[in-house]
Amino acid sequence: MRFTEEHEQLRRTVRDFVEKELNPHIDEWEREGAFPAHEVFKKAGRLGLLGVNKPEAYGGMGLDYSYQMCVTEELGNCRCGAIPMALGVQMDMSTPALARWGTDDLKREFLAPAIAGDVVTSIVVSEASGGSDVAAIKTTARKDGADYVINGSKMWITNAAQADWLCTLVTTSDGAAHANKTLVIIPTKLKGVEIGPKIDKLGMRASDTCPIFFDGVRVPQRHRIGEEGMGFMMQMVQFQEERLCGAIGALRGMDRLIEVTTQYCRERETFGQPLIANQVIHFRLAELKTEVEALRSLVYRAVEEYVGGADVTLLASMAKLKAGRLTREVSDSCLQYWGGMGFTWDNPASRAYRDNRLLSIGGGADEIMLGIICKLLGTLPGRKKK
Ligand SMILES: Cc1cc2nc3c(=O)[nH]c(=O)nc-3n(C[C@H](O)[C@H](O)[C@H](O)COP(=O)(O)OP(=O)(O)OC[C@H]3O[C@@H](n4cnc5c(N)ncnc54)[C@H](O)[C@@H]3O)c2cc1C
Repeated sequence: MRFTEEHEQLRRTVRDFVEKELNPHIDEWEREGAFPAHEVFKKAGRLGLLGVNKPEAYGGMGLDYSYQMCVTEELGNCRCGAIPMALGVQMDMSTPALARWGTDDLKREFLAPAIAGDVVTSIVVSEASGGSDVAAIKTTARKDGADYVINGSKMWITNAAQADWLCTLVTTSDGAAHANKTLVIIPTKLKGVEIGPKIDKLGMRASDTCPIFFDGVRVPQRHRIGEEGMGFMMQMVQFQEERLCGAIGALRGMDRLIEVTTQYCRERETFGQPLIANQVIHFRLAELKTEVEALRSLVYRAVEEYVGGADVTLLASMAKLKAGRLTREVSDSCLQYWGGMGFTWDNPASRAYRDNRLLSIGGGADEIMLGIICKLLGTLPGRKKK
């Protein structure tokens, strides 16, 4: 991966945004369990950060995904996981399929305002009956005249409390599970859309997560992304950016936590010497940093191949799996070296410990990543026919 002055400039812009617009408010937003998404997204939109790799015709910068990677990596300087996740949903989860397969009209109506930061959006796939098995979703959209009529419910939806539109996976026919799904844009203002209540979570406190209920919601069929029945395939492609985003977003958070923990271990003395003087500690921190750099190399390689036009499902799944596991290891080890302080709520290691736990669950759990990796390696046993 070769970074140009344009990449570095973009990185500086994001770091500045994080330092000025996000970090001064994080403790308050985390305490309140909410952040002003429209205000924050507008500021990000004005800087062009919500459409770096989106087409210029809709307000994006038209750059390749390596630039988007820089944005996500630098958002990792934020002192919590919640706000980068909320922004990540808009940049890498709810808009890639729309940008790739949406009609011009649909992109003007929904993508352009998302890039400008005028709206907040969600990716709406998971259901209470099970999030891992995407093919088994039960929310339906039946045709009626020029509309779809949507019934069902979704669960665990990030940004939902403040969202203006939802990129939603629905079942549009009784056919085979992988060929009967469709992605539809559903504005939240429509009659029959009910959102909430907010779910009280272990981590990512400032980000809102809610169930969504659809009761006879009429959506024009022109809100469909691409062809009917192709939604499962599109969501699988869209997952590549979601999973890359998860892995990229973890990197700087881990760097930061190792840095602040190292600093703390320099200052904190036990038995007449700084904690850092203990080999078990400085070796462990060095080992963790080595692992982070190894993950960074895997992530950069996946992004480089993605930019080159390759299908990076294998590498993106590996990166997401490794990132989920490594963030848990880094935050657990770092928390240990803060001692009792690490067990207090606002400590950086404790916040990372809570926030990072999500990465092994959301956007496809570790076991789902392992299943995909095995499938692509040809080692997944076929299912026995009943
Ligand atoms: C804070 C938060 C935010 C989220 N945001 C969104 C969002 O914006 N949009 C959205 O659509 N979804 C979102 N999700 C949902 C998330 O993607 C799902 O929670 C995840 O896919 C797991 O689904 P589940 O919770 O139903 O767990 P289940 O599917 O019930 O699985 C439970 C556990 O079982 C194990 N497991 C499952 N299947 C297998 C298998 N085949 N082999 C071995 N082990 C297995 C895994 O360890 C898994 O964690 C969010 C979740 C959380 C917690």
